[in-house]
Amino acid sequence: MATAKPPNLAGIPSVDRLLREPAVDALSESYGRPATTGAVREVLADLRSAVKAGRDLKPKAREPDALASAVAAKLEAAAAPSLRRVFNLTGTALHTNLGRAPLPPEVVEAVAMAALRPTNLEFDIDRGRRGDRDSHLEVRLCALTGAEAATAVNNNAAAVLLTLNSLALRKEVVVSRGELIEIGGSFRMPDIMSRAGCRLREVGTTNRTHLHDYADAVGEKTALIMKVHTSNYVVEGFTAEVPGRNLAELAHARHLPFVVDLGSGSLVDLTRWDLPHEPTPRETLAAGADLVTFSGDKLLGGPQAGIVAGRADLVARIKRNPMKRAMRLGKLSVAALEAVLRLYDDPDRLAEKLPTLRLLTRPATEIEAAAVRLLPVLAAWVGDRGSVTLQPVQSQIGSGAQPASSLPSTALVVHPSGGKRGLGGRLEKLAGNLRGLAIPVIGRIERDALVLDLRCLDDEAAFAGQLRPTVPATGEPPA
Ligand SMILES: *Cc1c(COP(=O)(O)O)cnc(C)c1O
Repeated sequence: MATAKPPNLAGIPSVDRLLREPAVDALSESYGRPATTGAVREVLADLRSAVKAGRDLKPKAREPDALASAVAAKLEAAAAPSLRRVFNLTGTALHTNLGRAPLPPEVVEAVAMAALRPTNLEFDIDRGRRGDRDSHLEVRLCALTGAEAATAVNNNAAAVLLTLNSLALRKEVVVSRGELIEIGGSFRMPDIMSRAGCRLREVGTTNRTHLHDYADAVGEKTALIMKVHTSNYVVEGFTAEVPGRNLAELAHARHLPFVVDLGSGSLVDLTRWDLPHEPTPRETLAAGADLVTFSGDKLLGGPQAGIVAGRADLVARIKRNPMKRAMRLGKLSVAALEAVLRLYDDPDRLAEKLPTLRLLTRPATEIEAAAVRLLPVLAAWVGDRGSVTLQPVQSQIGSGAQPASSLPSTALVVHPSGGKRGLGGRLEKLAGNLRGLAIPVIGRIERDALVLDLRCLDDEAAFAGQLRPTVPATGEPPA
């Protein structure tokens, strides 16, 4: 460094000079003066440090045109939304990291109305008085679950937390050790219990819990018995689990409520569409549960929400808890949930109207036909970076529903070219290129290949369009 020539900063325009450049002036019309000035400063600072670092610059790098394009690129990148559409080709239909259930257009209309205009969110129009936001949901939730009463909060984690805090503060909650679940890292039943102010009374063992384990644990300090649907794993082999009906009998004999966290739950019996059976709130309540909790954006197919349904006196206690105010459902979610529940009025058309159910019931032949059509398009995009094959795969419902069951589907599988050495890196690069497209494509890496499960590809034209060379994409062009 000491021997290097002093950097030649001559010819780099000043901030003011660059701002007066007509191309840059036009940018400040669209992006505003402060953002444009900021971008100009950054571009000039980048250029100065590149010169000082002795980097090889293109001869034109200091010219106003090149600098103006750099400013435009910076402004465009900064203005781009962070939350973007992606293609979920992971094979997991309800993918928590990708936003779970997609909503149908009629629901989006209801959300847009509630977003744009004042509504009777908490206003009783007939009486001209303050109303209750649950009123838009409760009648349908009760009809769909057989519950006496229902309320909705921000998500199911909140529903569980609020239920425990309302019914078991400073008391014990009896749960099987086989059901002390952790979901997605941050939802751990034991932690939720302690944050709710309850003491967890674990009974049984990881693989086996008997009715007498529960009976022995119930005492003076017990507030309720709880059952948690083991959402994201199955305990197999030498196992024993006490059916809800027996736990309900035990709880009621001791004058305690029996609460079931269903996790996903499904408002309708999925076997009707040849899908694996998932416990419904209705059958769980009919089997004796006093309350059930479940998510709005899992199998229900709606917005993020947590629903508590069951005995009216218990729901009333939950609604009186001041913590409910901190977990309440926003108006956009109320609008979305009500509109989704309305679709359940016509169960015969649910598989056609509700995107979640439509994706889960998508015929295997239809997915395969899409794969056949897209194979050459993807193969052309991949070029000599690899080869593409069509493979039968198994998709999953996801979000904890039926972890052991899977749905037959078809995937396009990209195998990177070249030998074993550096394969991992080339695979990551290909996956990164697909994520770098205008609409990022998210697949999964499995056995040295990139698997794109087409079950949830609902916009084939957009997917194919951005792979075709005529469309300038931000991903790498075919090699
Ligand atoms: C998913 C799940 C939760 C958490 O629900 P969110 O709606 O994601 O907050 C809680 N319990 C069980 C059993 C679940 O499957």
